[in-house]
Amino acid sequence: MEYRMKRTDGGVQPSLLGFGALRFPVNSQGQVDEAQVSEMIDRAMKGGVTYYDTAWPYLNGESEPILGRILSKYPRESYCLSTKLPCYELNSKEAAAERFHMQLQRLQTTYFDYYLLHMLNKDTWKKAVSLGMVELMEEYKEKGLIRYFGFSFHDSYEVFEEILNSRNWDFCLIQLNYLDTDFQAGLKGYQLAEQKGIPVQIMEPLKGGLLARLSPEVAEPLLACDPNASMASWGMRWVASLSNVGVVLSGMGAMEQVVDNLNTFQTINPLSEQERMAVEETAKRLRERLKNGCTGCRYCMPCPAGVDIQSSFQVWNNMAIDQDKALTKRNWGAIAPENRPDQCYGCGRCERICPQHLPIRSHLKLVTEQVEAFLNEKNKVEQFIS
Ligand code: SF4
Ligand code: SF4
Repeated sequence: MEYRMKRTDGGVQPSLLGFGALRFPVNSQGQVDEAQVSEMIDRAMKGGVTYYDTAWPYLNGESEPILGRILSKYPRESYCLSTKLPCYELNSKEAAAERFHMQLQRLQTTYFDYYLLHMLNKDTWKKAVSLGMVELMEEYKEKGLIRYFGFSFHDSYEVFEEILNSRNWDFCLIQLNYLDTDFQAGLKGYQLAEQKGIPVQIMEPLKGGLLARLSPEVAEPLLACDPNASMASWGMRWVASLSNVGVVLSGMGAMEQVVDNLNTFQTINPLSEQERMAVEETAKRLRERLKNGCTGCRYCMPCPAGVDIQSSFQVWNNMAIDQDKALTKRNWGAIAPENRPDQCYGCGRCERICPQHLPIRSHLKLVTEQVEAFLNEKNKVEQFIS
């Protein structure tokens, strides 16, 4: 395991692979399977993972308390804890202070190694500054309640540049993967942070898992390079090949993912020129097929009308990538009629929170139209028979 991000306060070094607490496995009742998460974290700890990242809203508020309970069995100085202030839903400095202290309690700690303003965009940044939240976090840093202060980001490159240049940040967290090189902060944002000497942490290195489940047709260039490498390992190596990346967050949802990531990060081999070209060709094939950029983060859920937004987009995107009728039928059938996109009554709540800024309402209409058209489409044999 590599430990790239330097600390000067004597705390444990963050591992290059960070454990994101957004996609913990759930049991058949839809509750987080805490016993399984605990085993996954034990395995990650043994493999040298020292960085654990969560946020107030993850898993409908369950992520912070669960992570706090599981990590409490380890000495506090053996891991880095990172969480985020949900500035978008707080309306005063006092509310931010109260929330911060609730987070300390939930995570059973007296300080955060890394603390971020969550999901900054033009509006939330303006709000965080005008309400004194940035000042408050600076005070907390002075007092040792926060060791390193940064922000996570979802807006255009121009807004990223404005925020990055506004103060001396300790680090920043951006969305970057081999498909999203020109999206939001993108590679240009990464390069700006590198020039300024600000370490970058990466979220969505596999675009919500999409890059880990490529069809053989899309992945053909990667398979030609190395048929034994996991699809996830290509995405991880692509981001880890960028030398100013200090932590790559992976929202691990199963033990196999922990094991696969540990194998990849045991020794990071930067991509060769030939491998880089194979990744670019794969990205091109994916871009041609993908319907939208939903990462499956579920920030938009629960929808008041019961729409399973994330699963609907997953079915739509997988249909476009795999062109597999039987699989699409099964996945579409797994969404109960009361959770289908046609239940949407257009309130717009989901669009206000979506970090990918997706036009969710209009895309939901397309999901129903296009998935049903695909399922009703006759293939050549069926056309011949009829
Ligand atoms: S716009 Fe539709 S999908 Fe979005 S939250 Fe409202 S009802 Fe749900
Ligand atoms: S629609 Fe947006 S908020 Fe909802 S799961 Fe997808 S990316 Fe996340």
